Amino acid sequence: MNSIARLRKLPPALKGLIFTFMPLAYYLFDKLNYSQAGLSAVLGFFTLTTLFYWRDILPNKRALFSGLLLSFLIIILLNIGFQSTLRDAFGVQQEDVIVVQSIFSTDMAESSEFFIQYARYISLNLALFLGSLVLFWFLFVAEPPSLSVEDKPKIKRYWAAGIVTIVLLAIHFNPTLRKSNPLFYFPENYLRWQADLEEAKQLYAHLAATNSDETLNSMVVSEGVGRRTVVVVIGESDTRNDWSLYGYERETTPLLEKVDGLIVFEDVIAADASTIGSITRMLTPATVEQGELWKEKPSVVVMAQRAGYKVYWVTNQGTEGRGIVSILAGQADRAVFTNRGGSRLEGTLDEAVLDPYRAALNDPAEKKLIFVHILGSHPSYNYRYPRTHAVFEKLYDDAVAERLASQGRSMWEITFRNMYDSAIYYQDYILSQLVNELIDHPNEPAAWLYISDHGQDVAHNSDFSGHNRRAKEMWEVPMLLWSNDHYELPVSDIAALKKRPYQADDLEHAILGLLDIEGGYYDSGLDIFSADYDLGRNFPRHLRGSGLDYR
Ligand SMILES: [Zn+2]
Repeated sequence: MNSIARLRKLPPALKGLIFTFMPLAYYLFDKLNYSQAGLSAVLGFFTLTTLFYWRDILPNKRALFSGLLLSFLIIILLNIGFQSTLRDAFGVQQEDVIVVQSIFSTDMAESSEFFIQYARYISLNLALFLGSLVLFWFLFVAEPPSLSVEDKPKIKRYWAAGIVTIVLLAIHFNPTLRKSNPLFYFPENYLRWQADLEEAKQLYAHLAATNSDETLNSMVVSEGVGRRTVVVVIGESDTRNDWSLYGYERETTPLLEKVDGLIVFEDVIAADASTIGSITRMLTPATVEQGELWKEKPSVVVMAQRAGYKVYWVTNQGTEGRGIVSILAGQADRAVFTNRGGSRLEGTLDEAVLDPYRAALNDPAEKKLIFVHILGSHPSYNYRYPRTHAVFEKLYDDAVAERLASQGRSMWEITFRNMYDSAIYYQDYILSQLVNELIDHPNEPAAWLYISDHGQDVAHNSDFSGHNRRAKEMWEVPMLLWSNDHYELPVSDIAALKKRPYQADDLEHAILGLLDIEGGYYDSGLDIFSADYDLGRNFPRHLRGSGLDYR
């Protein structure tokens, strides 16, 4: 009892600090990510500390401030529980576009369904919420009035109270912190949602129209094609310039080098230099020249389904890339989101895709198209690999590091390159697992394709690392094809095939070719794997917004 009394006598700032242990515990048990926990801790600390100060200073308003303390405690803890439930149940963050959409557009029937389906997560988080609330309330809010307060010099307390109040208001000028405050989250997102809704309505209307697209009815599987599995793996921020398979000095791709029969394409240029720009151009009839066509024409997901394929979409990307990527996933027969970080800036390692990928391979459906969308080497590079694969991290004396140093790159940039190469090295493990799983399914025709959405500039040209449209490394991507003995490739001259110059905005033709689908949206002249591939029609390649004259 004595120690509880002593706890209750703690100065306001320490009581506020003790509150921050709660979000910290959520973080340590992986129930919140570090930014969610950090934001809740900052918000909770300043709000509660401010109220504790004023309650001490104004003892005759004690009931009011205790009431405010209890209310804010409930709001902040409920918000933590809300975020933790979203993370447990769906692996998403509250600012993700699907969450915002579903909160504000869900009707009552849907919400009761939601509560039943996710009762396990909700009840766990509710219990945690009540436990933390009662504990903190009992220790600090419900304390009996402290009699010594009025003896102390008031002026210092006013100063302290004034300062924390000002800081509390000031931190709300930071948009990230303001959005994390539940009092602002709901109104701000309501407005954003209303604006998005209008845009989304138009987009969905366009896309719904693509379902009744006339040409779609012509898409059919060629005669005599039976069982078939085609896997399309889409990489992220992966430049072939850092692959040993393409001649890089560091051994970044040892496992892929051991895969028998892998066709390594030597001259492939990304469709665009951004994720959305590239994915829309690769997986729909949109091209470099007609970039908006994806809003009017069906995607390759819909085309494959129409021809009788079961389509899977397994992704480790977050859903903050609003719009098309979620739409493509939504079009698939089965979509699995593996990223529990919510944002591409942190997040789950790519090995999370392996289990759902295996499940898709084991699905007995006769014709399957499986998309796997990995995080690859997206910034921040150091979040893309486990410690076991941090092999280049501290390498400052090999040929690559010395060349960069002799080019005048800073230590910082060499470190970025080292982390990037470690991410490529880990990705080599992921890609080889994905292809080897398919190799272990030997009984039916199968093909496997890998291409990255775009590359990356990692101190290749200057003291800069990141997305850089003007760098050729941003456009030069790896592309790999593997197929088994039951699968007959349309071209037999592999040596010539892998040298074909290509830009990936026509990739949907290549995928349709692998699926053996013909019809109005398939053009063998644009299919790099076809014997009819017409080099002239893929030229000149155009690196949008780069200023590069690439042939
Ligand atoms: Zn990207």
